[in-house]
Amino acid sequence: MIPELAPWQQRAYDQAVATLAEGRLGHALLLCGPERLGKRAVAEALARYVLCQSRGADGRACGTCRSCRLFDARSQRDPVEVRPDGSPAHPWGHSAHPDYILVGYEWRLKPSPPKPRTEIVIDQVRELSERLALSAEHGVRIAIVEPADAVNYNAWNAILKTLEEPQPGRYLWLVASSPSRLPATIRSRCQRLEMRLPPRDEALAWLHAQGHDVDTAQAALDAARGHPGLADAWLRDGGLALRKEVAADLARVARGESGPIETAQRWAADEDAALRLYHAADLALAEASGLTDPARIRKLAQWFDAANRTRDLLRTTVRADLAIAELLVAWRAVPARQAPGQERGGNR
Ligand SMILES: [Zn+2]
Repeated sequence: MIPELAPWQQRAYDQAVATLAEGRLGHALLLCGPERLGKRAVAEALARYVLCQSRGADGRACGTCRSCRLFDARSQRDPVEVRPDGSPAHPWGHSAHPDYILVGYEWRLKPSPPKPRTEIVIDQVRELSERLALSAEHGVRIAIVEPADAVNYNAWNAILKTLEEPQPGRYLWLVASSPSRLPATIRSRCQRLEMRLPPRDEALAWLHAQGHDVDTAQAALDAARGHPGLADAWLRDGGLALRKEVAADLARVARGESGPIETAQRWAADEDAALRLYHAADLALAEASGLTDPARIRKLAQWFDAANRTRDLLRTTVRADLAIAELLVAWRAVPARQAPGQERGGNR
């Protein structure tokens, strides 16, 4: 079964279903909004509904017709499946539904060990276009590209061609958290379905329903600046504790209580180094967002960029502790907050 939708996901879904009911759902849809809000869940639920052969008046798929059963069987597949002949499979598994096409990161099999690609390449898009054009059992075929912001520059022409020659009953849905990265010629041809951060009360109620107690949920939601999906992820994978640790480290480095080199060695010592840099960059961004002093905002923005660059460096052969130490030396040079008694880099 596909998961129950969160209230903010349900709103986006309902909007699309209403558009379909009015006969206004076009060939191309751009589903956008912040990462981890569940855009993919909305796209899947919508695909299941559009493909359903016995759609209810309540805007839900029946769940029992042949199409729904085929669709649901898909979710049981191993997400990191590779085809028996060794050719790459979709990391989320293949759809058992012949009229449902999902295109995302594939696996690069050579050199060994296999790794997922970091972009969606032209061969994938060509295959998508071919499959989308095939005849469909009930006249409907749906292709989803996610993340569409990872489509390779050369592959966009192939997508554009598909968008320019729409066929009846064929849908192409692009899912993106940074839609501005998509070419304007693509964006202008898509209907837009936008997902936004929910109101705080709704986010808290949802986090509570995920099993987090009220205080923890509030702290995580504050740290994630109102993003429930992020807060939930941080609570599940220890990200919130790590974030607090990073905030405390940054404060100590800024006050001169810890050395950049010693701190960098600790940050680089385990597999969480990239995650620490992610939180460090985000904490700088959070600090900057509440400020009015342009000089400090600029310094924090520069440091935010530097932290992200350092995170990219971790994937190269550069020595992680040295790269991080340089970043932390730069952190000391960011002018300190003026208000007395407030910690640098703390959670707000
Ligand atoms: Zn059905």
